[in-house]
Amino acid sequence: MNTLSRSEAWQADRDHFVHPYTDFTTFHDTGSQVISHGDAMFVTDEQGQSYLDGIAGLWCVNLGHGRTEIAQAMADQAMRLGYYNTFGHSTNVPAANLARQLAERAPGGLNHVFFTTGGSTANDTAVRLAHFYFNRMGKPSKKKILSRNNGYHGSTYFASALTGIHGIHYGFDRISQDIVHHLSAANCYRRPDGMDEAQFCDFLIDEARHRIEQLGADNIAAFIAEPVMGAGGVLVAPAGYHRRMAEVCKDNDMLYIADEVVTGFGRLGHWFASENHFGHVPDILITAKGLSSGYCPIGAAIFSEKIYEGISKPQGPGGTLSHGFTYSGHPVACAAALKSIELYEAEDVFTNVRDTGPYMQDRLQGLLRHEVVGDVRGDHLMAGIELVADREAKRNFPPDLAAAEVVFRRAREHGVIVRPVGDTIILSPPLIISREQVDTLIDGLDQAIEDVSGQLLSRAGT
Ligand code: PMP
Repeated sequence: MNTLSRSEAWQADRDHFVHPYTDFTTFHDTGSQVISHGDAMFVTDEQGQSYLDGIAGLWCVNLGHGRTEIAQAMADQAMRLGYYNTFGHSTNVPAANLARQLAERAPGGLNHVFFTTGGSTANDTAVRLAHFYFNRMGKPSKKKILSRNNGYHGSTYFASALTGIHGIHYGFDRISQDIVHHLSAANCYRRPDGMDEAQFCDFLIDEARHRIEQLGADNIAAFIAEPVMGAGGVLVAPAGYHRRMAEVCKDNDMLYIADEVVTGFGRLGHWFASENHFGHVPDILITAKGLSSGYCPIGAAIFSEKIYEGISKPQGPGGTLSHGFTYSGHPVACAAALKSIELYEAEDVFTNVRDTGPYMQDRLQGLLRHEVVGDVRGDHLMAGIELVADREAKRNFPPDLAAAEVVFRRAREHGVIVRPVGDTIILSPPLIISREQVDTLIDGLDQAIEDVSGQLLSRAGT
């Protein structure tokens, strides 16, 4: 049977579908909310209730829901050629076209594209490429990777080791801690007392240089960072941080891997944030999510001429780049991405981000009127609102109160979807959002915080 009634779907889900990132206890108690369709900024659940989607599905549906143009492009491609592999010397037209279009839009010199199935596999690919490159360059000791606390890089075994959100490692094992080393998060809200942002930036750069000295530059292959940390709480680094970290990498012959899974494809108002927003060109740029506006699983590692030359120089037998996924360069996923790129341009979507983004950030400042809001931060159309039980001491709520989750549930009753992560509420709406819809989103969230803050403070004993 291909279709289920809504209640059958709910039951089948509860009985058989093991969801990503799910607390089994609450899942067994409540099951899932079945989302049945979407239209532009809105999604509708099985009860017929519509919500303004304040998180673009999961930072990805940048062009909004229900885009028939993308669906049509995928259907046309599936009928022409649904799949063929791209290993070795085989290719397909959408994959070749998309590779060229990405090279044209990526920062200067990043001309080579390796397709993956999503963000985690793209980050794994970046690390394998970095190791392969240094092996080829006769520097096989360069293996360690510097990452950061609070960074999120995915859920495959290696991408999860890169991830520095310590709570999500609970109960799992990690690959050898001697390969991945975490630096401090560029968390301006929780920077050491008495430092201004410029001093905090110096502190972070000094820490990186010191750690490199300790580990030995000859042992380190790369540094990986999100331009703005997403799942770690929407943390915006102090001014100049990324440019200076890029210099640190150059000084130590390390590759800079920019994980632009969230910040790419317009969320900060440009194709990619590294160059246009933060003033540096990474060696490897990782993208996924907005690449196909979430309509198909696809990711990519886009890398420099320097790396391409290093990995492709003739080696004789055994010189193959033995890395790849069945679905690398999947024609239907590439067709979805090509159509997305066309729509981003035709609809001038990034200009809208450069208008509504600052407007959203401005309006969010109003949430600081609530005693439980400790910090409001973000950049263009990504924002984090951190809840605290004590603003003076910057003390979070006890974890068992699940404060952000309480706000998320209440906000849903006001018709808006936000995302709770730890004690932070995250916003990352589709990039087609209007100023009026920004107002609706923030008013709904504001009302939800108003409704629950008294109860949260009294339960926290504040
Ligand atoms: N990197 C970043 C910055 C992400 O936010 C995510 C997913 N949220 C990933 C990597 C992993 O991507 P995927 O879930 O597509 O594997």
